[in-house]
Amino acid sequence: MTEDFYDVLGVSRDASEDEIKQAYREKATEYHPDVSDDPDAEEKFKKAKKAKEVLTDEEKRQAYDQMGHERFEQAEKRGGFDGGGPGAGAGGARGNPFGGGGGGGFEDIFEQFFGGGGSGGGSRPRQGQDLRTSLQLDLEEAYEGVEREFTVTRPTRCSDCDGAGHPPDADAETCPNCDGQGQVTQVQQTPFGRMQQTGTCRRCGGDGTLYSETCDTCGGEGQVREESTLSVDIPAGIRDGQTLRMEGEGAPGSNRGPNGDLLIEVSVADHSDFEREGDDLHYQHPISFPQATFGDTVEVPTLDGTVEMDVPEGTQSGETFRLKNKGMPRLRRRGRGDLYVQVQVVTPDSLNDEQREALEQFAEAGGEEVEVNEGFFERIKSSF
Ligand code: ZN
Repeated sequence: MTEDFYDVLGVSRDASEDEIKQAYREKATEYHPDVSDDPDAEEKFKKAKKAKEVLTDEEKRQAYDQMGHERFEQAEKRGGFDGGGPGAGAGGARGNPFGGGGGGGFEDIFEQFFGGGGSGGGSRPRQGQDLRTSLQLDLEEAYEGVEREFTVTRPTRCSDCDGAGHPPDADAETCPNCDGQGQVTQVQQTPFGRMQQTGTCRRCGGDGTLYSETCDTCGGEGQVREESTLSVDIPAGIRDGQTLRMEGEGAPGSNRGPNGDLLIEVSVADHSDFEREGDDLHYQHPISFPQATFGDTVEVPTLDGTVEMDVPEGTQSGETFRLKNKGMPRLRRRGRGDLYVQVQVVTPDSLNDEQREALEQFAEAGGEEVEVNEGFFERIKSSF
C-alpha cells in the first residue's frame, strides 16, 4: 500500500491547499472510525490526517517535495517535526518561517537544506496526545442510541499556571546554555562531511528562558491529572468494538498547541434473546406441534416491542423467517437490518390424559403401529 501523502489523499502533486483540504474532508468522512466499517479505518484516517497536516503546511510540504516520502519520514522520526502527535495544527505562532524553536528534526533538516539558522526561543505548538477509554452498552442502548456520561482521569492543563509551569510573577532569565535560542547546534565530522546537528536545549526544554520558580501545583509540567465527567452521544446502530472520537478531549497540547482527541472504544454486551450479526438479529421462537401443523399467527419480540408473525401451515422445526427492517438501525444511515426468526417445534414433555389419547388416535389414524402404553413418554424422555 502506498504511503505517499499525495496518493493517500488522491490529489496531484500540484494540488492547491483548498484541493488538499477538500480531499482530506472526503477521506475523513469515509474513514472516520465511528462511521466506517473498514477495520483499518482508524489507521487510514490517521494517514489521511497526517498527509493533510504536512501538505497544508507550506514549509513541511516544501520539505516533503524535496526529500521524498522516505527521507521525510526518517527526518521526522529522528527529531519529530511536532513531537509525533498527529495533526499538530502548528505553524501560526512562528515569526521566522525557517526559524522557530527547538522542535528538533524538522528545523534541523531545514538548516541543512536552506542553511538558515534557528532564531528566537520558544517551542512550536504541539498537539496533545490522543487518549483512550472504553464504554460498555447493552444491545437495547445500541439499538436506541444513547447519551452516556462517563468519567476519565486525564492530563489537563494546570489552571494555577495556565499551563506555563511557573507562576506568572516568577523571575525570568535567559537560558545560558542556549543563549535564549531554545536549541543548541553541534557540528560533527561524519563520513559524509561536516554535519550540523541541532537539538532542543536540555536545560530550558526549548523555552530559551529559565524561571526562578516552578508551579507548585503541577511541578512545572504545566498539566495535572484530573478526573473529568464527560458526556458522549452514542449513535444508534453502533457495533461492538467500534471507536468514537471526541475531538479535543485528549491530553492538552504543549506551547498552546491543540488538545489531542479522546477515543472511546464501545463494546456491546451479548443479549439473552437476540444474537446480532452485523445489523441483523437472530431469534429463536418456540411453537407447538399443532401450530406448526395448522399454521398460526404468533407474537415475536423485537427490540422495539412485539410484532405478529405468520407461521404457515406445515412449518418444519428449524425453519427461518425473515422480518424485514426489524433488526438493528444502520449506523448513521437510513434503514435497519432484518430480524431472522427460527422456529423450534417443542415436543411436549408431559401430556394430560386427553392429550395422550388424542395423540394416540393421531398416530393410529396415520397408520402408525404405535404401541403406546403407560410410561411411553417417560421412556422417550429418559432416552434423551
Ligand atoms: Zn502549574
